[in-house]
Amino acid sequence: MNVNIVCPHCLKVNRIPKKDSYTKANCGECKESLLEAKPLNGNASILATYIANSELAVVVDFWAPWCGPCLQMAPHFDKAASLMPLQAQFLKINNDDEQSLGAKYQIASIPCVLVFKDGKEVDRFTGARNSVEIEDWVRKYV
Ligand SMILES: [Zn+2]
Repeated sequence: MNVNIVCPHCLKVNRIPKKDSYTKANCGECKESLLEAKPLNGNASILATYIANSELAVVVDFWAPWCGPCLQMAPHFDKAASLMPLQAQFLKINNDDEQSLGAKYQIASIPCVLVFKDGKEVDRFTGARNSVEIEDWVRKYV
């Protein structure tokens, strides 16, 4: 079985075999590693590209630089992402810079993490969680 994923470097869609783990996977367009699992700093257009094209769960952290719990959760979100390369795709959205997205998705308080599957939001949580809690939550949707 193959899945479409979005390259975090050039945003081109790649079709790759679905596996439980990968030793090597490079983008057909830009040749960068698709195993790069650091969350991508996104915006409205990047988020739309991911939601429309990725067949993996798209996990989106809405945060802001002044938000203490957001900063506290950031390394945990990074760690959860690093443990799931090509199992889910992780984005961060600065809620101050992308207020139209905050309104669209009715983000009432941050950090707020949404997961999208097949183009639709399927779940969310609000408030800081640690890496184990984030990973367990995301794995329900991979
Ligand atoms: Zn690429």
